[in-house]
Amino acid sequence: MTQSAEIVQEAAVVDQPILQVKNLHKSYQGQEVLRGVEFDIRKGQVKAVLGPSGSGKSTMLRLMALLEPADDGSIQLRGETIGTKLQHGRTVHLPERLLARQRQEIGMVFQKFNLFPHLSAVRNVMLGMTSVKGISHHAAREQAMEMLNRVGLDHRAEHYPSELSGGQQQRVAIARALVLNPSVMLFDEPTSALDPELVGEVLDVMEKLAADGMTMIVVTHETRFASRVASEVSLFDGGVIIEQAAPDQFFNNPQHERTRKFLSHVH
Ligand code: ADP
Ligand code: MG
Repeated sequence: MTQSAEIVQEAAVVDQPILQVKNLHKSYQGQEVLRGVEFDIRKGQVKAVLGPSGSGKSTMLRLMALLEPADDGSIQLRGETIGTKLQHGRTVHLPERLLARQRQEIGMVFQKFNLFPHLSAVRNVMLGMTSVKGISHHAAREQAMEMLNRVGLDHRAEHYPSELSGGQQQRVAIARALVLNPSVMLFDEPTSALDPELVGEVLDVMEKLAADGMTMIVVTHETRFASRVASEVSLFDGGVIIEQAAPDQFFNNPQHERTRKFLSHVH
């Protein structure tokens, strides 16, 4: 291969989205919540997703994290369809064992932390490594401590969730997701359940993560965080993405009436 052909091929790989969602549909009891979501993210990008409550944002993230199957559409990680496969022209869900492996690639942080109350911080971070990845207790503890250090909580390793503030619990939850070495991190309103004075410490950890090159999708109401950290901002409403643009364009010159209306309520 000539050198220039190699460069072109490399550029194509870099240019390919790491995660790509096509025509995602999901209904609950006949109510259509996702109506054909199209979404993609490139390596190292941070996408902020804004949108009204009840519009399907959490559902979109749960499907991307393979916590629930889609009714229709596909999710691709580095060009490979995950969660489902096509068999005899029909979409079938993959076996649980394979799903568990694919899920490790996509870390998720929830609004309500979801830590195990009977386990210390370090044990919460270790759990996925020992149970899912089969890493030894000793090695898992070492990696968990490293990750707690990264979120500024190594000195709270032996504390139980009830002994930690909301902001600290959320940072433990971030460490727990990160320690499995995911390719993409999904955040579902990670600061919405926090007292206002604790929001900053969680956003700081996320901003550092973004600066370190993590690929992130963040559903949030924090417009200042979105405009400062995101590479692209989306408005999600009625089960679809309405508008996507660079932060400056999105906040200062939105193209859609619905985006203008939404922003007039949050600003
Ligand atoms: P958002 O995160 O934007 O607030 P959600 O994705 O949580 O929106 O919810 C979108 C809609 O789907 C809501 O009407 C909600 O009641 C419904 N919904 C979400 N999850 C379920 C579920 N597991 N069973 C039934 N309805 C659900
Ligand atoms: Mg939600």
